[in-house]
Amino acid sequence: MPLKEISHPAVDIDLRYATPDNITGQCIYDHAVAFLHQDALLALVRVADLAAAQGLRLRVLDAYRPSAAQWRLWAALPDPRFVADPRVGSMHTRGVAVDLTLCNPDGVPLDMGTAFDEMTEQSFHGNTEIAPVAQHNRCLLMGLMTLAGWDHHPFEWWHYNLPDPTRYPKLSDEVEGEFLMDAHPAAASGG
Ligand SMILES: [Zn+2]
Repeated sequence: MPLKEISHPAVDIDLRYATPDNITGQCIYDHAVAFLHQDALLALVRVADLAAAQGLRLRVLDAYRPSAAQWRLWAALPDPRFVADPRVGSMHTRGVAVDLTLCNPDGVPLDMGTAFDEMTEQSFHGNTEIAPVAQHNRCLLMGLMTLAGWDHHPFEWWHYNLPDPTRYPKLSDEVEGEFLMDAHPAAASGG
C-alpha cells in the first residue's frame, strides 16, 4: 500500500475540500482524512520536526486527492487556470503533493498574504506587493520544505510536491480513495 495517513504531533489536518470553504463552494470530499505516498510522508515528517523545533506547526490543506475528487472539482469549476483537467490529472492524485501552511504554537495560521487557492499574482512566490511579514513567512515555509527535499510551485505559495512527480504512478481510487469519498450511485451505474 503506497499511501499512509498523515499523523504527527505538530501537524493539523484542515482539508478544505471536505468543507464548502474552497474555490468551488462545495464539499468535494465526504471525509477529511489526509494521505500521502510513503516517500512524501517521510519528507513531510522531516518538515514537521523542523517546524516543531522552532515552536511552529503545520496545517495540511490538501494531500492525496482521489481521481473522483478531481472530476468533482472540474465539474464545479471547469477552468484549467484554477483546476487541473482530470484527464491530465493532478500531482495530488499521485500522492506526492501537499498544500499546507505554517501556524504559530497555538495552531493559528501565519500571515501568508493571500488565502489558500487564491489564484492571483499575489499568490506567486516572490511577489513583493504583499506585506513584508507575509513574504518572510512564505520564505520560512519554503526553507523548511526545501530542506526536506520538496519542490515549490511558482504560482501557489501553499503547494509543494516531490521532485519529478511523474515517476510516481497515478493512483486508482480503490482503497484510499474510498476513505475520502463515498461511492456515489451515479458513478457506480456509470460502470
Ligand atoms: Zn496543490
